[in-house]
Amino acid sequence: MQHLLSSWPQFSGRLKSQKLLLCLDYDGTLTPIVATPGDAVFSEAGRQVLTSLVSLPGILVSVVSGRGVADVKNRVGVGGILYSGNHGLEADGPRASWVHPESWLLRKRMAPLAASLRRGMSAFRGVIVEDKGLTVSVHYRNAEPRELPRAQKVFYKLVDRAVKMGHCVIRQGRKVWEIHPPFDWGKDAFVSKLYHEEAARQGFNLIPIYFGDDRTDEGAFRVVAGRGIAVKVGSSNGNSQALYFLKEPREVLECLRKIRGLRVA
Ligand SMILES: [Mg+2]
Repeated sequence: MQHLLSSWPQFSGRLKSQKLLLCLDYDGTLTPIVATPGDAVFSEAGRQVLTSLVSLPGILVSVVSGRGVADVKNRVGVGGILYSGNHGLEADGPRASWVHPESWLLRKRMAPLAASLRRGMSAFRGVIVEDKGLTVSVHYRNAEPRELPRAQKVFYKLVDRAVKMGHCVIRQGRKVWEIHPPFDWGKDAFVSKLYHEEAARQGFNLIPIYFGDDRTDEGAFRVVAGRGIAVKVGSSNGNSQALYFLKEPREVLECLRKIRGLRVA
């Protein structure tokens, strides 16, 4: 994997002149990972650079998060961005809002599951159950390390029936168990849909760029890798579909400033 900022000269020509689809994850990408997800506050500096990017012609900015769409929209707080929440199951943006056609069924199934997890996991200090309507996240970053094996056992017991009935699947994120829909739809499918819609509108020389830090971003890396730039935030280690990396969210903002600099020059 190459460091994106160090490889910058090889991209600057294309990034200066071609149309861009700029996709960004939120937690761990635009903001540093924090102990409690509710505390992940977007910086004013970040808000400024996104605000100036969305005002430029030929750039569509999309924030693609595992959070609920209203939550991520509220946290970023910049108009003109296409926000997607629940790992691509819903979107809200300048042109239209969208939800996955099966979301009514998901809502119906996730609600009792979230309620039972909230009850069952309340025995473990530091474990947070986040009901996002279409998916549920169980964060264990702040759990007592010695209680973790038992918390994991209880978690899998509580979701076992729903998993066996084919109502959901479990995905592992960064210190979080994610309860996802059983069908194949995630950030990858959303980014692919978005890319094809935008390319049909703007022309197929559109360059997709995706910044993300987590396993749930890997599919989206694969979608953009052949056509644009996939950037893993956090580390150059480990198996990733991304060919480029940045060390931390601060470098993501630096990169966004460089893109803005190229486009206004
Ligand atoms: Mg993330």
